[in-house]
Amino acid sequence: MQVKILGSAAGGGFPQWNCACPNCHALRGGQFQGKARSQTQVAISSDGETWFLLGASPDLRYQIESSPELYPRSGTRSSPIGGVILVSVPDSFEVIEDNQCTRGTAQSSMENVESIRLR
Ligand SMILES: [Zn+2]
Repeated sequence: MQVKILGSAAGGGFPQWNCACPNCHALRGGQFQGKARSQTQVAISSDGETWFLLGASPDLRYQIESSPELYPRSGTRSSPIGGVILVSVPDSFEVIEDNQCTRGTAQSSMENVESIRLR
């Protein structure tokens, strides 16, 4: 299993768009040692070819364009992203693939990811 962290900041990113705390201020001014970060987003893959997104952050377009593993590989409409797993509701999940949605329990979510990948 490969896990790629596409973003690790809170809802407003870092620096947060509406924040002038010392860290956000220092990053904007070039005095902060860390890097700007987009909103939390994770991608997982069992083979490095097909990826599943855990959630869908508002920064997703930027995160995909910043991750060569997620670039389209051929044709005019292709993507190595096999689906999006929405885990925002405790004890349930949804997998969206090719405009189809599957519902199930959180306990079986990884089994379903594997079965969807094999279709
Ligand atoms: Zn701040």
